[in-house]
Amino acid sequence: MDAVLLYAWRVPRDGLGHGTSGNLSRRVGANTVRITPSGIPFPRLSDADLIDLRVEDGGVLAGHWQPSSEWRLHCALYRQHPSVHGIVHVHSPFATVFACLGRPIEAVHYLIAKVGPRIPVVPYATYGTQLLAERVSEGLMTSRAVLLENHGLVTVGATLAEAYQLALDVEWLAGLYYRTLSIGQPRILDEAEIARVQSAFRHYGPDRD
Ligand code: 13P
Ligand code: ZN
Repeated sequence: MDAVLLYAWRVPRDGLGHGTSGNLSRRVGANTVRITPSGIPFPRLSDADLIDLRVEDGGVLAGHWQPSSEWRLHCALYRQHPSVHGIVHVHSPFATVFACLGRPIEAVHYLIAKVGPRIPVVPYATYGTQLLAERVSEGLMTSRAVLLENHGLVTVGATLAEAYQLALDVEWLAGLYYRTLSIGQPRILDEAEIARVQSAFRHYGPDRD
């Protein structure tokens, strides 16, 4: 099974989206992106429904359906961010609350260091447009996750697995921030502490020195 399909199926199960919201892709060659089709609920997809596009201009190389309406965004990100090999876009519930408020997610918990001192919001543009693609691409120059104003979330990674895990992490952080704000004023970690956590993360996990 292709990784695009594997993670697309997980979106509704993990509570990251509903209906036909969201789209996922990964690089499958120097100039090829494999992406979900437009407007088909993820649980109904099989490998044969995925679309291969030319990164350069979004031209269809293989597939039977219309590619995701956000193909411009996916192609622009692969063109402008060579280290990105996987992209997740979702309308996950808590991240989208902050996106609709135009409010960045602040450092309410040290785990945000996976992204940076905060998760920024990029200004609104109509879905599927080149303007949205450009705004998201610019936001991702300094962050691996951005909120899209009045829309949702985009995360990127060196693999699709990494981008997907980051989407889960951001949604968890957004839920935590929402809950803390609902009963008090959370203490926000400063940038120096986030930098310390980021260097600690370099040695986190098994089999590393
Ligand atoms: P697609 O079904 O065309 O991928 O659109 C969903 C979406 O989230 C648009 O921003
Ligand atoms: Zn969307």
